[in-house]
Amino acid sequence: MLRVAVVGSGPSGCYTAQHLVQQDPEVRVDVLDRLPCPYGLVRYGVAPDHEKIKSLQAGLCTVLEHERVRFLGGVRVGGPGGVPVKVLRGLYHAVVYCVGAATDRRLGIPGEDLPGCWSATEFVSWYSAHPDAADAGYVRGVRSAVVIGAGNVAVDVTRMLMRGAAELRPTDMPQAALEALTASGVEEVRMVARRGPAQARFTTKELRELGTLPGTRVAVEPGDLALDPADPETLPAARRRNLDVLRGWAGRPAGSGRDIRLRFFLRPVELLADGGRVGAVRFERTAPDGHGGVTGTGRYEEMPAQLVLRSVGYRGVPLEGLPFDEASGTVPHAAGRVVRDGAASSGEYVAGWIKRGPSGVIGTNRPCAKETVASLLADAPELARADVPGDAVPALLAAGTEPVAWDGWLAIERAEAELGARLGRGVVKLADWESLLAVARSA
Ligand SMILES: Cc1cc2nc3c(=O)[nH]c(=O)nc-3n(C[C@H](O)[C@H](O)[C@H](O)COP(=O)(O)OP(=O)(O)OC[C@H]3O[C@@H](n4cnc5c(N)ncnc54)[C@H](O)[C@@H]3O)c2cc1C
Repeated sequence: MLRVAVVGSGPSGCYTAQHLVQQDPEVRVDVLDRLPCPYGLVRYGVAPDHEKIKSLQAGLCTVLEHERVRFLGGVRVGGPGGVPVKVLRGLYHAVVYCVGAATDRRLGIPGEDLPGCWSATEFVSWYSAHPDAADAGYVRGVRSAVVIGAGNVAVDVTRMLMRGAAELRPTDMPQAALEALTASGVEEVRMVARRGPAQARFTTKELRELGTLPGTRVAVEPGDLALDPADPETLPAARRRNLDVLRGWAGRPAGSGRDIRLRFFLRPVELLADGGRVGAVRFERTAPDGHGGVTGTGRYEEMPAQLVLRSVGYRGVPLEGLPFDEASGTVPHAAGRVVRDGAASSGEYVAGWIKRGPSGVIGTNRPCAKETVASLLADAPELARADVPGDAVPALLAAGTEPVAWDGWLAIERAEAELGARLGRGVVKLADWESLLAVARSA
């Protein structure tokens, strides 16, 4: 009987476990996560007002409740205090790393470390109740915000800054974030992209949603649109639809309520301080270079901003004991088999964002996990010869971790429902390690 550890309980970890139990009638899978809560970015990334996407958790839950799958939360692999990769490898016939891409890319410009400039990752983690997130006073005293980037995460954070109390209250957002966002005086968000509207990566559905926010007007600079040389007829359908939406918003006059302005062909070059924190962003106007990229024009523009969120991509972080390709921010692999020193490493696999980089939607992780599981099961006869413990938990305890079992997670879910009821809301997430672990350990 094959025993497999899956590290990470996000979509790729859950889909890996699902493919394993579907294809091997005997395999036993432990899904380990450093957090006491499962589901990765479905819980801690997908925007709280996107209930339909959040509800995908139900499908992932079914996998984790399968009789041959066991969730072990609160188990970090690698790093300080974590179970070393080598130790874990000795406890299972195979280990599949599904640890995602936990960090963000930087702009690499002066002023980036000023208070008031944060990564979208930090902001998302805060309103999603990630226990590692700190309340940095993101929206305190902010009238104008600049979001740098043109993907769906940039759209998410722009939307969350503009949503009102009536729309945020029914979400599972932690109470402190709800109070801060609803009390904020943010009047204007500018979403700014280095390249043109035809290259923007947001999906039309997310883009259109910006135009439906109550009391908020969306506008696009007609001059930015005119700069784009792309012939709409030659563009893929999705990008053509984006352009149609953007053209519908071109040149609208300022509204009386809140404003979202979408800007293109502007590259951030410096963040300017005002009273010890960010006060403005200086951009260089870019122009199409004729090869699908952009080039600087030597013309500059400044935008006032007391909050700057950068959303220019995610990046995997190296896991001590696993090989890592710095250029791509992923673990080198061949069809999901971890590659060490040019050769496939026995019994070590990857799936999800740490395997293919931070792109694609939740569903993209399913075929990705399927490929990895096919490789693992092809290797199974060889892997099954190893002598591993019947149950890894005693060894995990000996290694200094105290796993949170499924019951512990269910207790957290109950506590979040009770907290929501007390606050006159629906479910409200617990946002700190202490509360999460206290509730989980009480189960
Ligand atoms: C802000 C944001 C919003 C998104 N919104 C959507 C959306 O609306 N719709 C959509 O389809 N897609 C969305 N996505 C994309 C989607 O979330 C990803 O495709 C998906 O989560 C990637 O899955 P994963 O399992 O590879 O990584 P993750 O979901 O990140 O899961 C990784 C898991 O590994 C655990 N882990 C990490 N390191 C360790 C360690 N050392 N030891 C133990 N455990 C560890 C983490 O705690 C985490 O639970 C969004 C992404 C982001 C960033």
